[in-house]
Parts: sequence; C-alpha cells; structure tokens
Amino acid sequence: MMNSPLLLSHFIERAERYFPTKQVISRTLNGKKSLTYQQIGERTRRLASALAQFGIKKGDRVGTFAWNTHRHLEAYFAIPGIGAVLHTINLRLSQDHIAYVINHAEDRVLFVDADVWPLIAQLRDQLSSVEAFVLMSDGELPEVDWPNVFSYEEFIAKGDPSFEFVQSIDETSPAGICYTSATTGKPKGVVYSHRGIYLHSMALGLADTAGLSEKDVLMPVVPMFHVNAWGLPFAATWFGTTQVMPGPQFTPQVLAELIDEEKVTLAAGVPTIWLGLLRELETGVYQTEHLRAILCGGSAAPAAMIQTFEQKYNVPFLHAYGMTETSPLVTVSMVKSYQADLNEEETLELRAKQGLVVPGLEVKVVGPNGEVKPDGAEMGELLIRGPWIADHYYKAEEVSDAFADGWLHTGDVATIDEEGFIKLVDRTKDLIKSGGEWISSVDLENAIMAHEDVFEAAVVSVPDPKWQERPVACVVLKDPNKGSVAEADIRRFLEGKFPSWWLPDRVIFMDELPKTSVGKFLKRALREQVKEQMEA
Ligand code: ADP
Repeated sequence: MMNSPLLLSHFIERAERYFPTKQVISRTLNGKKSLTYQQIGERTRRLASALAQFGIKKGDRVGTFAWNTHRHLEAYFAIPGIGAVLHTINLRLSQDHIAYVINHAEDRVLFVDADVWPLIAQLRDQLSSVEAFVLMSDGELPEVDWPNVFSYEEFIAKGDPSFEFVQSIDETSPAGICYTSATTGKPKGVVYSHRGIYLHSMALGLADTAGLSEKDVLMPVVPMFHVNAWGLPFAATWFGTTQVMPGPQFTPQVLAELIDEEKVTLAAGVPTIWLGLLRELETGVYQTEHLRAILCGGSAAPAAMIQTFEQKYNVPFLHAYGMTETSPLVTVSMVKSYQADLNEEETLELRAKQGLVVPGLEVKVVGPNGEVKPDGAEMGELLIRGPWIADHYYKAEEVSDAFADGWLHTGDVATIDEEGFIKLVDRTKDLIKSGGEWISSVDLENAIMAHEDVFEAAVVSVPDPKWQERPVACVVLKDPNKGSVAEADIRRFLEGKFPSWWLPDRVIFMDELPKTSVGKFLKRALREQVKEQMEA
C-alpha cells in the first residue's frame, strides 16, 4: 500500500473542495456571523502565508489564547499547514502558569482574543520568546508601544489566498501542543503529531463512537484550548460538518439559543455545562429536538443527569472518557445490540459507565505490582496505548513514570466488566481509604446528584484518627434558600444504595463548589475548604 503521509492540510483542502458552501457559524463579541468553508479555506491560506512571510518555519510554536471562534479554527489549520506547531493556551490557567507555558513552548507569535488581551498585556514583559502579537478581533487595536502588534484581519490581508500548504512534512512531526491543566505542579506539555490527530479524527467519525458526520451540526462547547476541543474541530472540518462556535460568552442561555436557532445535532462539553443547560431548558422556551446527542466527558456524567436529558428532553447522552495525554478519545459508552432487552435501570447503569475502548486503542487495568486484572475483577489503574496516546511530555528532563513499559499510566482507577465496559472508580488521588477499604468519591457524588433538590455535589476525604480517611459531601442546592433539606435527608437518601460505612460523615451545604480551569470539581481546594469549616 502507498505510504501517503497523514497530514492536517488534507482536512481543510477536502472541506474547501467538497463542502465549499457549508458553514461555520461563529459567535464573537460583535455578534454571530457565518462563513463558508470556501471562505474559511481562503482565510486559512492567507494566515498560513502571512505566518510564513513573518518567518515562521517548520517546528516553530505559535500560541493561541482564544475562545471557540472561526478565527481560532483558521489558526488550527494555518499553523500546522506550514509545519509549525499550534499551541492552544488554556485561558483559565493562573497568570504564572500562562507565562510558564508560553515560555516553555517558546511561542514566537501569539494570537489573542480581545477580551483576554489585558491578561497578556500584563504578562508582556515576561514573554521573551514572543515576537508578534495578533489581536483576534473585528475592533480597534489597543494602544501599546510594543513592536509587531497586528489586528488579525490586517495580518491575514497581507497573505496569499491561494497559498499552498506545505506538503513536505513528516506525518510524525508535531502539529499541536496542549499543556495539562496541572492541578498539582507545573503544567506538562503533550505534543500531538499530524498522524495522531488524523487517526483520532477518523475514530471520532465511527458510528459507535461520536459518529460525527457531514450531516451533523456540531457545537463544541468544550474550549478549543482544552485538548483541542476534544479534536472535534479537526474532524468536523474534514467531514464537512457544519460547526457552531459559541465564542467567549457561552452562558447556558447562549448555548440554549444556539442549539435552538442553529438546529445543533451534536454538542460537546463537560458535565457542569450540561447541568447549567438543564436549568436553562426548564424555562421551556427552547427547541431541542434536533439534538441527536450530547457528547459528555472530562469528568463522570451523573446518571441522574443522563436520565433527565433522555427522558424529559429526549436527548441521548454519549458519555466519553479521555485525557490531555490521549488526544483525548479513549472510550465511549454504548449498549451492545444483544443487550437490548436489559431493563431501564440496567441500561442507564451501562450508559453511565465510561464505556468501551474505541477501535485503535488498547486498555488494561493493573494492580499495584503491575499484575493485569482479568475483566470483571477488582479495580486497578487504567493503562492505555495506541497511535494517538502520548509517549512523553514535551522537553521533560526525565521520562515520567506515566509512560513506563510502553503504556500510558493514567492515574485513574477503573474496573472493566465482562463485556469490556470501563467504569472509572476515581482518580487515584481522590479515592477515599477508610478502614483499609476504598470508597469511590465519584459513585457517592453521582448518587447525591440524583436527589431532586441537589444542583451539584462533590465528595472529598478528610483525615480520620480511627479510619484513616472518611468521606465528606459538599452539596449545592438548586434553591439555596430551601432550608428544608438537611444533612440527614442527604444521608437518608443514600441509605440502601451503599454499604453504611460508605455514607459521608458530614454533608456541608455550600453556595458553589470550586472548579478547575475546565469546569471540573477542584477537589484539592475543596478539601482545604472542608478542613477549614470543620476546624471552625
Ligand atoms: P486534568 O488532568 O487537568 O483534569 P484532563 O482534561 O486531561 O486534564 O483530565 C483527564 C482526566 O479527567 C482523566 O484522567 C479522568 O480522571 C477525568 N475524566 C475524563 N473523562 C471522564 C469521564 N467520562 N468520567 C470520569 N472522569 C473522567
């Protein structure tokens, strides 16, 4: 067979050639606008050409500090299109970490959205590698006296609309880099190759995974700086899928409006986004019947939320699992054809699992000494390998244990059932060790979130002199003024669902829960908060 290189330029070339009239709808600070793939293609070529004129060469890193918009999509293809490396910077990192990742990646040019420009302006003096700043807005340039500050439109106007993407690129060379959001320590860089993204995009199109196709109207709510919006914009462009980019202000109301107005068929994001959307849908003013699925990952999707979306709004849920190091797609929940006769409860239980490993990857669960646990057995650490799984961290001084023996050691504790379905029990560091036994914080919080008065809940461990650790539940009520829900109610609600020693010792009601930069519960901060409250 031919050894054709797997390059990202093929994606945008295909969209231009076969889907020139299909659209990318982008909501920026100046309202909503639509561009065709023909326009996107031309603008991408201009951008690639302008970057080449500026002196960006193969292997150079170019940073983006931006929300989900059409311009960000153009950067997604223009930067790898000349063999450079697209560094999508997480906007919600701390200032120290933002400066750290830009310096560590040695970004030569930085593309910055208007509303986050002040953040970059503050850090300007620390960013020694950056030679030019491009403001991604329709508006005026801010008044600064630094050299090489351009507006995006001015920058691409200088480029050639029929620029040819560079073809002499080795498919294993880097196309992108994302840093993990690092709940502990410094962020670590994960490099994505053209080949990895190409194969990962194919996996997103398989019927039993996300089944992304030309017929979809895709809305990636997951930010383009979070594992490349799960790789969806790459695949969607390749397939000619209509894309809806929600931009900087993706409130539940904006999302509900876009789903309704643009007839979105597939929306992707973390569970906290969908909890917010559920609240908004209760107003009853939105049409959601075009949604064929919500793709949900990043943290465990509570079964109660899946059930509400499916039963009340007839929107099926696709629960998926992955991480920055895995591009990210690893598993998608599914029910096999011969499981059709399972009852409703059993089906929901299956659907709430993280699911089956997608074609192309291998997984196993191992014990503390590396012994492989047979399917259906106890829990252990989940290991993964395959062509879109990272095998090192960028510029790491030593090989991390995470990549020992040719497998990615995820730090996630999981079980695999006899059918091969993976269920994540917890992150290694969040499991609660009580009296020599393990308690899954995830199972407890998902059960609490099924309580009709609960908006969200997270469970963390507190040190205990007798049991080593004990669980404490932190709960946000739907109606904060509702004094009628007491600690005892939550505990009673859990009784019978778990062994009694699993039940949280305390239930603390809070106004909100601390979240990570990508909307996951920030357990480290929560443990601190709980400690303070309990000592008070
Ligand atoms: P970070 O490590 O900064 O949170 P990632 O986005 O790479 O960044 O997070 C990956 C982790 O998120 C996984 O290792 C896992 O613990 C968790 N995760 C992802 N998807 C799911 C899911 N569907 N259910 C439970 N946990 C998930």
